[in-house]
Amino acid sequence: MTRKQKIIQCAINTNIIDDNLTAIGIMDLDRLKQTVKDAYDAFPENFYHTFAVKANALVSVLKSLREYGMGAEVASPGELLIALKAGYSHDSIIFDSPAKTMADLRTCIKYGISLNIDNLQELARIDALMLEFPETKSVIGFRVNPQIGSGKISSTSTATATSKFGYALADGNNKQKLIEIYKARPWLKSIHTHTGSQGCELTLMASGVYSITALAEEINSYIGHQQVVRLDIGGGLPVNFISEEVSPTFKEYADVLSEKVPLLFTNKYQVKTEFGRAIAAKNGVIVTRVEYTKNSGGRHIATTHAGAQILTRTAFLPKSWPLRVTGFLPCGEEKTSIQSEVIPTDVAGPCCFAGDLICVDQQLPKLEANDYVMVHDTGGYYFSNHFDYNSLPRIGVYAVSGDDDALIIKCIRKADTVEDVLAKMEYRE
Ligand SMILES: *Cc1c(COP(=O)(O)O)cnc(C)c1O
Repeated sequence: MTRKQKIIQCAINTNIIDDNLTAIGIMDLDRLKQTVKDAYDAFPENFYHTFAVKANALVSVLKSLREYGMGAEVASPGELLIALKAGYSHDSIIFDSPAKTMADLRTCIKYGISLNIDNLQELARIDALMLEFPETKSVIGFRVNPQIGSGKISSTSTATATSKFGYALADGNNKQKLIEIYKARPWLKSIHTHTGSQGCELTLMASGVYSITALAEEINSYIGHQQVVRLDIGGGLPVNFISEEVSPTFKEYADVLSEKVPLLFTNKYQVKTEFGRAIAAKNGVIVTRVEYTKNSGGRHIATTHAGAQILTRTAFLPKSWPLRVTGFLPCGEEKTSIQSEVIPTDVAGPCCFAGDLICVDQQLPKLEANDYVMVHDTGGYYFSNHFDYNSLPRIGVYAVSGDDDALIIKCIRKADTVEDVLAKMEYRE
C-alpha cells in the first residue's frame, strides 16, 4: 500500500474523514522535510533557500519549513505577518511585492528585512528611508527583468518584454543607468530575478540567472570592488502534475545552472532561491467526498466539494493546470478497475458555473456517492489559497507525519463554520 493510501486510511480511522466530509487539505510533513533536504543537497553551501509564502501561507507549514532550514519570501504585508507569526527572524525574510507601500518599505528598512526594489519610483522612496535608517541591516537589491521571453503559461511568465515585474534591463540604455545607480549607492548589495513559474523551461530560467550574474560582475568591475554580494535567483522550478514522479528535480536544475552559470557554484556570491511550488505541491493532497453522481449525455459526472473555490487555476485554466485524481471507497480502499468498470468521468466541484470541474472526460473506475476523491499535487497554491475566503467557508487542513505504519495526523487549520463566515461578513452590513 502506498503512503497516500495509508494517509487516507489513517484519516478515516481517526474520524477526520467521514460521511459528512466536504473537503480537506492534507500536508505530508515528512515528505516536505525530504523535499527541503533534496533542495539543500542539490546545491552547494553558498545557497540559501527561502520559501515563497504565497505558495502555502499556513503558519504551521511555514513553521515546519523554518525548522527544516528555509527562509521566507513574502509578497504582501499579510504574508509578512504570517511569516513572523511562524517564527521567521527578520534576517531570514525577503520582501518582494511589486506594490510596496511606504509603510511596507519603512517596516522592512527599520527591522532589517531584506527587500528587492521593483522600479525607480520605489528606489526614490528607499533613498529617503536610507537617510533615516543609515545603519539598516536590510540587504537591498533591484528586481531585474532580463526580458528573455515567455514560458508556456503566459500568466506565470515574468520575464517577458512587457512584464509588470522589475526593472526592464534590455530597454534603451537601462542597463548602464542601473550600473550608475549601483555605483552611487554602496548599500545596493544584491540583484534579483524571478524568471517565472510553472511552464518555464530550465534553460529559460538559467538564462535569466545568467543575465543577473553577468550584470553583477559588470557592476562590481565598474565600481572596482565586490559591492554586489548576493544573487537572488527566484523560484519557478516547474512541477510534474501528470504522475508521482518528481521532475525536474532540484539536482537537474542545479546541473543546468552549473553548466550555464558556473560562477554561482564558486562561493563568490551568496545565492538565494525562492522556491514555492517545487517545495510544496507534491507534498499535499485534497480529499473530497462524492456527494452525488449522474449520467448526462453519456458522461458519468461525480459532484464533489472541491472546485473553483480551492482549485481556482484548474477550474479557470484547465489546460495549463491539469490535476490528477484517484477514487477511494468509503472504507478507504483505492478504487481500481478490478472492483468497478472504468468509464469516462467528469469530476465536478460545488460552484454554480459549468467550468467548475477538477477533471474532464477522464477514464476512472466508476465513482459512486460517498466515495472519496484524492486530488494530487495540491500542496502549493491550492488549499491554502482560497478564491474568496470572506464569503466561502475555508476547508480544514491536516498535517501527517511519521512512518507509513505509524502515521500521526493533526489539524493545522480548522474549517470555518457557516457561523464563522457570517461573523466575518458583519463588517459588510
Ligand atoms: C511566486 C514567486 C516565487 C515562487 O514561484 P514558484 O513557481 O512557486 O517557485 C518566487 N519569487 C517570486 C518573486 C515570486 O513572485
